[in-house]
Amino acid sequence: MDADEKKLYSNFEYDSALNVMGGVKQPEQVNNSYVERMRALKKKEYTVDEMVAEILHGDRTMLSRAITLVESSLHAHQKKAQEVIERCIPYSGKSVRLGLTGVPGAGKSTTIETLGKMLTGTGHKVAVLAIDPSSERSKGSILGDKTRMEELSVDPNAFIRPSPSAGSLGGVARKTREIIVLCEAAGFDVVIVETVGVGQSEVAAHSMVDFFQLLQLANTGDELQGIKRGIMEMADAIAINKCDIDRTKSELAATQFRNALHLFPMPDSGYEVKVQLISAYSHEGIEEMWKNVMEYVVYAKQTGYFYQKRQQQNLRILNESIESALKDRFYNAPGMEERIAEMSKAILENKISAYAAAEQLLD
Ligand code: GDP
Repeated sequence: MDADEKKLYSNFEYDSALNVMGGVKQPEQVNNSYVERMRALKKKEYTVDEMVAEILHGDRTMLSRAITLVESSLHAHQKKAQEVIERCIPYSGKSVRLGLTGVPGAGKSTTIETLGKMLTGTGHKVAVLAIDPSSERSKGSILGDKTRMEELSVDPNAFIRPSPSAGSLGGVARKTREIIVLCEAAGFDVVIVETVGVGQSEVAAHSMVDFFQLLQLANTGDELQGIKRGIMEMADAIAINKCDIDRTKSELAATQFRNALHLFPMPDSGYEVKVQLISAYSHEGIEEMWKNVMEYVVYAKQTGYFYQKRQQQNLRILNESIESALKDRFYNAPGMEERIAEMSKAILENKISAYAAAEQLLD
């Protein structure tokens, strides 16, 4: 009996029926030394060298850690993330980057699941990323709903990562590009970028993929309504999903799309935009859809367009980075907030024109 127990029993007569016996102390349920070791491992700060080495070995845990650094807003994390990315760049670029878009309910995640399983089944390693500036991590756009990509999410040759948490589209897009580099360095040879939003995020996705696949549904009445002209123009291929529901309607929709495409100029790639019927459910047409992507890649590599497009995308990153760095420097300059407030007041009092005020601030 230890001191506390003695104190407790001292309130009772030992031979009273009200006595509560001390019982036997239970042994610890958990092996504490193991728990401590796991905690230490989790907390362990890996060096850039260690992280890069493990990523290049295809270690998914380290890949996840590096992505967490990319997504962090802490300056120290950002700095380390940049170092890891720089070191991974020479090993990146070897994947096929596929953009997939469509309105909510079009069947994007079901298609990714079917296509992804088909690809891992033939020896590919597939990474699935999303661009969804509206999503918050807790509501996770891809994995939040556990029923999405059920099989692919437990496939050792697949890596699924929800959209970086809510932020400006520019920020989310930049992080996604960096995550692509990390995934490629880790050996993923197919990177699928899904866009959940409708509109601007498609433009962002388009600027980082080799091939942009649009998913459509047949049973939405006038098929062409509601599709932004811009999105049609960006598409390298259109797939009409859920053709298992109504084949006649799906074929009709495909014809409408083919006719509409005649009104658009030929894409810069010179590769014909195909309209195909697919069913993510019955797997019909999924193989053909992928075959079309691969034929495009072979064709675009032959013509050089594939590399040219990637170079243009890189130059775009350069320009965007300069713009955002200049903006940061300007707004974070010492005393800038007060100076802007003063100038705003002067403008409202008609003491200075907005143009002149901007010039003075920039000076
Ligand atoms: P997302 O919002 O674009 O990711 O769409 P989902 O993949 O979540 O699919 C929306 C709904 O359509 C789900 O209930 C799917 O089961 C269903 N769905 C997806 N693909 C097909 C298909 O090929 N045929 C049929 N009949 N239903 C499908």
